[in-house]
Amino acid sequence: VKEKLSEQVSDAAAVTSVEQPHKLMDVRQVERTFQVGGKPLHVLKGINMSLERGQLVMLRGRSGSGKTTLLNCLGGLDIPSKGEVWFNGKKFSGMGDDERTAIRRSQLGFIFQAYALMPLLSAWENVELSLRMAGVPRGEWKARVTECLEMVGLGKRMKHRPFEMSGGEQQRVAIAKAIAHRPILLLADEPTAELDSNMSAQVMNLFQHIIKNEKVTICMTTHDPTIMEVADHVYEMVDGKFI
Ligand code: ADP
Repeated sequence: VKEKLSEQVSDAAAVTSVEQPHKLMDVRQVERTFQVGGKPLHVLKGINMSLERGQLVMLRGRSGSGKTTLLNCLGGLDIPSKGEVWFNGKKFSGMGDDERTAIRRSQLGFIFQAYALMPLLSAWENVELSLRMAGVPRGEWKARVTECLEMVGLGKRMKHRPFEMSGGEQQRVAIAKAIAHRPILLLADEPTAELDSNMSAQVMNLFQHIIKNEKVTICMTTHDPTIMEVADHVYEMVDGKFI
Protein backbone atom coordinates (compact mmCIF):
# COMPACT_ATOMS: atom_id res chain seq x y z
CA VAL A 1 0.00 0.00 0.00
CA LYS A 2 2.84 2.35 0.96
CA GLU A 3 4.61 1.64 -2.34
CA LYS A 4 1.45 2.46 -4.24
CA LEU A 5 1.07 5.68 -2.31
CA SER A 6 4.61 6.84 -3.01
CA GLU A 7 4.27 6.02 -6.73
CA GLN A 8 1.20 8.19 -6.86
CA VAL A 9 2.90 10.92 -4.88
CA SER A 10 5.68 11.17 -7.44
CA ASP A 11 3.04 11.31 -10.21
CA ALA A 12 1.23 14.11 -8.41
CA ALA A 13 4.50 15.95 -7.77
CA ALA A 14 5.40 15.73 -11.46
CA VAL A 15 2.12 17.37 -12.42
CA THR A 16 2.25 20.16 -9.85
CA SER A 17 5.84 21.03 -10.75
CA VAL A 18 4.94 21.56 -14.43
CA GLU A 19 2.34 24.16 -13.54
CA GLN A 20 3.22 27.50 -12.00
CA PRO A 21 2.15 27.15 -8.41
CA HIS A 22 0.40 30.19 -7.05
CA LYS A 23 -0.97 31.05 -3.71
CA LEU A 24 -4.55 29.90 -3.25
CA MET A 25 -4.96 30.73 0.40
CA ASP A 26 -3.11 33.02 2.73
CA VAL A 27 -3.77 33.00 6.44
CA ARG A 28 -2.29 35.91 8.37
CA GLN A 29 -2.09 36.13 12.15
CA VAL A 30 -5.46 34.45 12.61
CA GLU A 31 -6.90 34.35 16.10
CA ARG A 32 -10.24 32.94 17.22
CA THR A 33 -11.66 33.53 20.66
CA PHE A 34 -14.94 32.13 21.94
CA GLN A 35 -16.82 33.39 24.96
CA VAL A 36 -17.45 30.44 27.25
CA GLY A 37 -19.36 31.07 30.47
CA GLY A 38 -18.60 34.78 30.20
CA LYS A 39 -14.85 34.14 29.87
CA PRO A 40 -12.73 34.31 26.70
CA LEU A 41 -11.39 31.00 25.40
CA HIS A 42 -8.45 31.63 23.04
CA VAL A 43 -8.57 28.73 20.58
CA LEU A 44 -6.43 30.04 17.69
CA LYS A 45 -3.47 32.14 18.77
CA GLY A 46 -1.86 33.69 15.71
CA ILE A 47 -1.91 31.21 12.84
CA ASN A 48 0.07 31.90 9.65
CA MET A 49 -0.06 29.50 6.72
CA SER A 50 -0.47 29.44 2.99
CA LEU A 51 -1.77 26.93 0.48
CA GLU A 52 -0.45 26.70 -3.05
CA ARG A 53 -2.46 25.24 -5.91
CA GLY A 54 -2.24 21.48 -6.24
CA GLN A 55 -0.94 20.89 -2.71
CA LEU A 56 -1.95 18.28 -0.20
CA VAL A 57 -1.57 19.89 3.22
CA MET A 58 -2.29 18.21 6.53
CA LEU A 59 -3.01 19.54 10.00
CA ARG A 60 -2.19 17.33 12.96
CA GLY A 61 -2.56 17.87 16.66
CA ARG A 62 -4.33 16.57 19.73
CA SER A 63 -8.05 16.72 20.09
CA GLY A 64 -8.99 20.20 21.25
CA SER A 65 -5.87 21.86 19.80
CA GLY A 66 -7.95 23.96 17.36
CA LYS A 67 -7.74 22.10 14.02
CA THR A 68 -11.47 22.11 13.27
CA THR A 69 -11.79 25.75 14.28
CA LEU A 70 -9.02 26.58 11.81
CA LEU A 71 -10.63 24.53 9.01
CA ASN A 72 -13.89 26.39 9.70
CA CYS A 73 -12.06 29.72 9.31
CA LEU A 74 -10.38 28.54 6.10
CA GLY A 75 -13.74 27.51 4.66
CA GLY A 76 -15.60 30.67 5.62
CA LEU A 77 -17.83 28.75 8.03
CA ASP A 78 -16.44 30.84 10.87
CA ILE A 79 -14.83 34.28 11.04
CA PRO A 80 -11.52 34.87 12.83
CA SER A 81 -11.66 37.25 15.79
CA LYS A 82 -8.42 38.80 14.50
CA GLY A 83 -6.24 38.42 11.42
CA GLU A 84 -7.05 37.77 7.77
CA VAL A 85 -7.93 34.86 5.50
CA TRP A 86 -7.31 35.49 1.80
CA PHE A 87 -8.81 33.03 -0.66
CA ASN A 88 -7.99 33.15 -4.36
CA GLY A 89 -7.00 36.81 -4.18
CA LYS A 90 -10.00 37.95 -2.13
CA LYS A 91 -10.16 38.77 1.55
CA PHE A 92 -12.50 36.08 2.79
CA SER A 93 -12.55 37.37 6.34
CA GLY A 94 -13.83 40.79 5.25
CA MET A 95 -16.77 39.66 3.10
CA GLY A 96 -20.46 39.80 3.90
CA ASP A 97 -22.35 36.57 4.60
CA ASP A 98 -23.96 36.36 1.14
CA GLU A 99 -20.72 36.73 -0.77
CA ARG A 100 -18.94 34.26 1.48
CA THR A 101 -21.74 31.71 1.15
CA ALA A 102 -21.72 32.04 -2.64
CA ILE A 103 -17.97 31.43 -2.77
CA ARG A 104 -18.26 28.55 -0.32
CA ARG A 105 -20.92 26.82 -2.40
CA SER A 106 -19.23 27.27 -5.75
CA GLN A 107 -15.49 27.13 -5.05
CA LEU A 108 -15.06 25.07 -1.90
CA GLY A 109 -15.75 21.45 -1.11
CA PHE A 110 -16.18 20.04 2.39
CA ILE A 111 -15.80 16.56 3.82
CA PHE A 112 -17.00 17.39 7.31
CA GLN A 113 -19.27 15.61 9.73
CA ALA A 114 -21.77 18.43 9.30
CA TYR A 115 -21.82 17.85 5.54
CA ALA A 116 -22.62 14.16 5.94
CA LEU A 117 -24.69 12.27 3.40
CA MET A 118 -28.46 12.60 3.34
CA PRO A 119 -29.58 9.18 4.62
CA LEU A 120 -32.72 8.90 2.51
CA LEU A 121 -31.08 9.92 -0.75
CA SER A 122 -29.18 7.55 -3.03
CA ALA A 123 -25.50 8.07 -3.84
CA TRP A 124 -26.63 9.63 -7.13
CA GLU A 125 -29.09 12.01 -5.45
CA ASN A 126 -26.54 13.03 -2.81
CA VAL A 127 -24.01 14.07 -5.44
CA GLU A 128 -26.71 15.75 -7.54
CA LEU A 129 -27.76 17.79 -4.50
CA SER A 130 -24.32 19.35 -4.26
CA LEU A 131 -24.48 20.39 -7.94
CA ARG A 132 -27.91 21.93 -7.35
CA MET A 133 -26.63 23.85 -4.28
CA ALA A 134 -23.62 25.14 -6.23
CA GLY A 135 -25.86 26.46 -9.02
CA VAL A 136 -24.44 24.16 -11.71
CA PRO A 137 -26.81 24.15 -14.73
CA ARG A 138 -29.21 21.18 -14.64
CA GLY A 139 -28.13 19.98 -18.09
CA GLU A 140 -24.66 19.19 -16.73
CA TRP A 141 -25.77 17.16 -13.72
CA LYS A 142 -26.13 13.72 -15.25
CA ALA A 143 -22.70 13.57 -16.85
CA ARG A 144 -20.94 15.04 -13.84
CA VAL A 145 -22.65 12.79 -11.27
CA THR A 146 -21.76 9.74 -13.37
CA GLU A 147 -18.17 10.95 -13.80
CA CYS A 148 -17.68 11.58 -10.05
CA LEU A 149 -19.23 8.32 -8.86
CA GLU A 150 -17.18 6.38 -11.41
CA MET A 151 -14.04 8.23 -10.31
CA VAL A 152 -14.55 7.05 -6.71
CA GLY A 153 -15.22 3.49 -7.91
CA LEU A 154 -18.96 3.50 -7.25
CA GLY A 155 -20.23 3.24 -10.82
CA LYS A 156 -22.22 0.18 -9.79
CA ARG A 157 -23.57 1.62 -6.54
CA MET A 158 -25.23 4.78 -7.81
CA LYS A 159 -28.75 3.86 -6.71
CA HIS A 160 -27.68 2.65 -3.25
CA ARG A 161 -28.57 4.67 -0.19
CA PRO A 162 -25.98 5.26 2.58
CA PHE A 163 -27.30 2.48 4.86
CA GLU A 164 -26.88 0.00 2.00
CA MET A 165 -23.16 0.79 1.70
CA SER A 166 -20.02 0.10 3.76
CA GLY A 167 -18.25 2.89 5.69
CA GLY A 168 -15.58 3.14 2.99
CA GLU A 169 -18.20 3.38 0.25
CA GLN A 170 -20.07 6.08 2.12
CA GLN A 171 -16.86 8.04 2.51
CA ARG A 172 -16.26 7.75 -1.23
CA VAL A 173 -19.76 9.11 -1.90
CA ALA A 174 -18.91 11.99 0.45
CA ILE A 175 -15.78 12.66 -1.62
CA ALA A 176 -17.76 12.54 -4.89
CA LYS A 177 -20.28 14.93 -3.35
CA ALA A 178 -17.56 17.31 -2.18
CA ILE A 179 -15.81 17.57 -5.55
CA ALA A 180 -18.78 17.34 -7.96
CA HIS A 181 -19.10 21.11 -8.47
CA ARG A 182 -15.35 21.36 -9.24
CA PRO A 183 -14.19 23.24 -6.12
CA ILE A 184 -10.69 24.65 -6.19
CA LEU A 185 -10.15 23.88 -2.51
CA LEU A 186 -11.28 20.77 -0.65
CA LEU A 187 -11.31 20.88 3.16
CA ALA A 188 -11.58 17.56 4.96
CA ASP A 189 -11.89 16.99 8.71
CA GLU A 190 -10.49 13.55 9.63
CA PRO A 191 -11.61 11.98 6.33
CA THR A 192 -10.03 8.62 7.18
CA ALA A 193 -10.81 8.45 10.89
CA GLU A 194 -13.46 5.75 10.60
CA LEU A 195 -11.61 3.65 8.02
CA ASP A 196 -9.19 0.73 8.29
CA SER A 197 -5.66 1.19 6.92
CA ASN A 198 -6.47 -0.32 3.53
CA MET A 199 -9.50 1.94 3.07
CA SER A 200 -7.49 4.94 4.30
CA ALA A 201 -4.86 4.26 1.66
CA GLN A 202 -7.60 4.05 -0.97
CA VAL A 203 -8.98 7.41 0.10
CA MET A 204 -5.50 8.96 -0.04
CA ASN A 205 -4.96 7.49 -3.52
CA LEU A 206 -8.22 9.04 -4.51
CA PHE A 207 -7.19 12.43 -3.09
CA GLN A 208 -4.00 12.30 -5.11
CA HIS A 209 -5.97 11.38 -8.22
CA ILE A 210 -8.27 14.35 -7.60
CA ILE A 211 -5.34 16.74 -7.12
CA LYS A 212 -3.88 15.58 -10.40
CA ASN A 213 -7.01 15.33 -12.53
CA GLU A 214 -9.40 17.85 -11.03
CA LYS A 215 -6.76 20.46 -10.11
CA VAL A 216 -7.95 20.63 -6.52
CA THR A 217 -5.94 21.72 -3.47
CA ILE A 218 -6.64 19.67 -0.36
CA CYS A 219 -6.25 20.66 3.28
CA MET A 220 -7.17 17.96 5.78
CA THR A 221 -6.80 17.04 9.43
CA THR A 222 -5.50 13.62 10.44
CA HIS A 223 -4.03 11.66 13.33
CA ASP A 224 -2.59 8.91 11.16
CA PRO A 225 1.23 9.09 10.74
CA THR A 226 1.26 6.72 7.71
CA ILE A 227 -1.05 9.09 5.87
CA MET A 228 1.14 12.09 6.65
CA GLU A 229 3.90 10.59 4.50
CA VAL A 230 2.06 11.64 1.35
CA ALA A 231 1.53 15.28 2.39
CA ASP A 232 3.38 18.19 0.78
CA HIS A 233 3.31 19.91 4.17
CA VAL A 234 2.25 18.87 7.64
CA TYR A 235 1.45 21.59 10.17
CA GLU A 236 1.46 20.50 13.77
CA MET A 237 -0.86 22.38 16.07
CA VAL A 238 -0.40 22.59 19.82
CA ASP A 239 -2.80 24.65 21.88
CA GLY A 240 -3.88 26.96 19.05
CA LYS A 241 -0.43 27.53 17.52
CA PHE A 242 1.74 25.80 14.93
CA ILE A 243 5.00 24.45 16.28
P1 ADP B 1 -9.74 19.95 17.33
O1 ADP B 1 -10.40 19.94 16.00
O2 ADP B 1 -8.24 20.09 17.27
O3 ADP B 1 -10.15 18.78 18.17
P2 ADP B 1 -11.49 22.18 17.93
O4 ADP B 1 -11.15 23.28 16.97
O5 ADP B 1 -12.70 21.36 17.64
O6 ADP B 1 -10.21 21.24 18.13
O7 ADP B 1 -11.69 22.80 19.37
C1 ADP B 1 -10.68 23.57 20.03
C2 ADP B 1 -11.26 24.17 21.30
O8 ADP B 1 -12.21 25.16 20.96
C3 ADP B 1 -11.99 23.17 22.18
O9 ADP B 1 -11.68 23.46 23.52
C4 ADP B 1 -13.46 23.46 21.90
O10 ADP B 1 -14.26 23.14 22.99
C5 ADP B 1 -13.45 24.95 21.62
N1 ADP B 1 -14.53 25.38 20.73
C6 ADP B 1 -14.67 25.06 19.43
N2 ADP B 1 -15.76 25.64 18.90
C7 ADP B 1 -16.33 26.36 19.90
C8 ADP B 1 -17.48 27.21 20.01
N3 ADP B 1 -18.27 27.42 18.96
N4 ADP B 1 -17.75 27.77 21.20
C9 ADP B 1 -16.93 27.57 22.26
N5 ADP B 1 -15.83 26.79 22.24
C10 ADP B 1 -15.52 26.20 21.08
